[in-house]
Amino acid sequence: MTDFAGNQTIIEFVYLIASVLFILSLKWLSSPSTARHGVWAGELGMLLAICGTLLHQGIVDYKWIAIALVIGSGIGVPLGLVQMTAVPQRTALSHAFGALCVTLVGSAEFYLRSPDVPGFMMAVLSMEVILGGLTFTGSLMAAGKLQEILPQRPLTYKGQNFVNLLLLVGAIVVAVYLVMNPGAKQFFPVMLGISLVFGVLLVIPIGGADMPTVISLLNSYAGLSAAAMGFVLNSKLLIIAGALDGSSGLILSVIMSKAMNRSFTNVLFGAFGQVQTAATGAQEAKPVRSATAEEAAAILEAANKVVVIPGYGMAVAQAQHKVRELYDVLTRQGVDVRFAIHPVAGRMPGHMNVLLAEADIPYDRLIEMDEINGDLPQTDVALVIGANDVTNPAARNDQSSPIYGMPILDVDKAHTVMVIKRSMSPGFAGIDNPLYYLDKTLMLFGDAKSFVNNIVRELSGVHA
Ligand code: NDP
Repeated sequence: MTDFAGNQTIIEFVYLIASVLFILSLKWLSSPSTARHGVWAGELGMLLAICGTLLHQGIVDYKWIAIALVIGSGIGVPLGLVQMTAVPQRTALSHAFGALCVTLVGSAEFYLRSPDVPGFMMAVLSMEVILGGLTFTGSLMAAGKLQEILPQRPLTYKGQNFVNLLLLVGAIVVAVYLVMNPGAKQFFPVMLGISLVFGVLLVIPIGGADMPTVISLLNSYAGLSAAAMGFVLNSKLLIIAGALDGSSGLILSVIMSKAMNRSFTNVLFGAFGQVQTAATGAQEAKPVRSATAEEAAAILEAANKVVVIPGYGMAVAQAQHKVRELYDVLTRQGVDVRFAIHPVAGRMPGHMNVLLAEADIPYDRLIEMDEINGDLPQTDVALVIGANDVTNPAARNDQSSPIYGMPILDVDKAHTVMVIKRSMSPGFAGIDNPLYYLDKTLMLFGDAKSFVNNIVRELSGVHA
């Protein structure tokens, strides 16, 4: 008995430290200069939480846990080694696994306890299973869309919102019935089934451009379902971690929605982000001006103020280290070089910050969209490296554009614009970019890494 109490005290203490580490982790992750500490704190917190759980008296046999650990690590390690450009879909898969776990635990708890489930317990258990189920299938859909296994365009049909609403109400009605009749075991699979179908139908009408917001929203749902599981299992740690996850996911979704000038209801029901590649293909070829690395280097050398606009193409080309060399050589020559960060540049929130930090570009050179936009009209050269949608003036000027209303970097207001990309292909939204046809724009066709390298060589006086 004394041993049990002692063990329990240790577990509670370990959980308390883990909770504090989770909170610190989120705080530190909010700034690039402390983000690494944030990652370490989160990892340590999770390790402590797992160790604390393994000390639990309820565990009768470690064999199955060991087998699960081996299988989980076998799946988790390769998942963690994916290219950074694939992190959004990997994150969606992590949410799916987390939500599946919550759903399975909730289902097991129901069948173990039924019919003796008190009303409050049944209510949180239902919430856990509904949120867990819809997050599981919704996250799989999101991962499929981002990996392009499923069509990225919104899949819509007449009466879609009504059907979705009906499913949600249906799941809630069954949940209420189960709260009143916790012995009605046959209704539990109905509630679970509806939530699984709801997850699929909730995500298929959402277009690719809204995926980042959807993923952070699903993150929030996964957190809330974990918090509900905390109530079911009487685990304060789960309640705290789930609440942190739920609220931070929601805050991130709001930030992302704002960045795209979208309301939540629009994101969820608006079928935004339609990929319009077909429309682009049909357009007649318009003339553009292109330039060589030598010409680009001469223009950059003559500039006082340069703003670099990194985007998804920089990530694909892994050009960040070459970009750092470009920053160094221009700075040495007295040019003021800064980086314009759009909140949805790349394929995940903070994608550009992570890449530029990896290349040790000073944090104070990274300027957020709202701040840099005021400076772009006084900028000599805006050098776009693999960015497209986030610089598209159609979002500002063309009401018929699918990205109309999305805040952009006002690159077209700089004195000269240079764009490094391989071709005239569109970006993620699948639409043409009028920026490329302006008289002040020079297209620098090529892979971002090798083109930036060539500019650096020209600037350093090293000719091939
Ligand atoms: P875009 O996807 O709009 O454009 C990227 C451009 O990079 C393409 O036009 C492509 O042109 C070019 N490119 C690709 N590979 C290379 C290469 N090796 N070298 C040089 N250029 C290359 O990127 P943005 O960053 O401007 O915008 C992000 C888009 O992704 C937005 O629409 C956003 O909504 C969406 N999104 C964002 C997420 C996020 O969380 N940040 C998540 C999911 C979607 P070319 O083929 O001609 O080289």
